[in-house]
Amino acid sequence: MTPTTIVVLGGGYTGVMSAIRLARRTRRTRTRVILVNPSDRFTERLRLHQIATGQRTADHRIPALLHGTGAEFVRGRATHLDPERREVRIAGDGGERTLGYDYLVYALGAVTDTSVPGVDAHAHTLDDAEAAHRFAERLAELTHRGGTVAVVGSGLTGVEAAAEIAEGHPNLHVTLLGSAEPGSMMGAKARRHLLGALDRLGVEICTGVRVTKVPPNAVELNGGETVPVDAVLWTAGVVAAPLARAAGLTVDDRGRVVVDATLASVSHPSVYAVGDAAAIRQSWGMIHGTCQSGVPSAAYAADAIARRLRGKRPRPFRFGYVHQPVSLGRRDAVVQFTRPDDTPGRWCLTGRAAVVYKEAVTRSPAVIYRLSRWLTIPARALARTGGRANRPVAAG
Ligand SMILES: Cc1cc2nc3c(=O)[nH]c(=O)nc-3n(C[C@H](O)[C@H](O)[C@H](O)COP(=O)(O)OP(=O)(O)OC[C@H]3O[C@@H](n4cnc5c(N)ncnc54)[C@H](O)[C@@H]3O)c2cc1C
Repeated sequence: MTPTTIVVLGGGYTGVMSAIRLARRTRRTRTRVILVNPSDRFTERLRLHQIATGQRTADHRIPALLHGTGAEFVRGRATHLDPERREVRIAGDGGERTLGYDYLVYALGAVTDTSVPGVDAHAHTLDDAEAAHRFAERLAELTHRGGTVAVVGSGLTGVEAAAEIAEGHPNLHVTLLGSAEPGSMMGAKARRHLLGALDRLGVEICTGVRVTKVPPNAVELNGGETVPVDAVLWTAGVVAAPLARAAGLTVDDRGRVVVDATLASVSHPSVYAVGDAAAIRQSWGMIHGTCQSGVPSAAYAADAIARRLRGKRPRPFRFGYVHQPVSLGRRDAVVQFTRPDDTPGRWCLTGRAAVVYKEAVTRSPAVIYRLSRWLTIPARALARTGGRANRPVAAG
């Protein structure tokens, strides 16, 4: 009898979680779990702004994370998906190969939306470790003579990056540009702390603006003004990987796979989508891409597939946000605790306590992977699953 084959595409936060949990959940059945990722290095996206300022971070390797689980690792990039034939084409060092599957976990994440003219050619991104290293080199060149860095996008990725650059390179003038006020999704106290920290670090904030073009060494604003800068970091908006749309899966306007209540694709139920690559609706609204929501979605998808293999119906996926943890350089942070729909609750942490909390959250996926090799962590311990009774321990 041929084993059931489950292919997990993408070895980021969610793909690794799904592969480890699938291997454990299916260890008593004849099942092959194969994880595909272009690099054997695990990218801790939550630390890319640290890499961008030249900090050394841990070197996690995917084969080591999978070691002992039984899940196999294939190094390569998925280039074509045929959900009718249940096949995926992989381009790797040794050329192309085709993998057949019974179930597919689509965990390809999202990348920065670089559709504004000039961004691809003249701006840096924090999409992967290589991009962060290139930006770190540019900042190192500038730091001796001084210069101006524009961080475009005033969401939390932009805030964390601007604070880290300003703290690591005090010679550089950092401007944070965006349409919304930084921290606008937080409560008044947390927002005040965040804005105070940016001010203390010397970050200039320009809100109510949209960058419409990035020429060499400048940014053009929607009002027509051109602002000269020495480096641009683009953090404004994300788009999902293009493979699902090209394969004919039902996707939303951002290319995310539209899934049902069990995270199966609404058009192709043998495909499960998780993390940033999935459009997941909850009773309170749509989940937006975070590690916090991604890791529980990945664990859930593994459980759902394992249940289907045993002939059981999976229960609907339920998730609620817990917090918005934001680093403000290495010595300060703010954590806004939230309602399940990610609107701010009453409590927040600031300063040293928030730094410790944020670091624990950033480390938590690696800890969860290690534990998941030996035990099945209950879903309600990975995230708030809705209702007052669940006390959450969230990842990311
Ligand atoms: C600087 C920064 C800070 C952040 N901070 C936070 C935070 O504090 N808290 C939080 O919750 N979230 C944070 N996020 C968001 C968080 O990183 C994402 O939500 C999370 O990474 C999503 O996980 P994922 O597995 O869906 O995607 P990813 O982690 O991006 O993984 C996708 C994987 O798929 C691989 N891949 C892509 N294309 C292919 C292909 N064709 N074939 C095979 N593999 C492919 C990629 O190489 C990658 O390994 C931050 C993001 C950034 C950039």
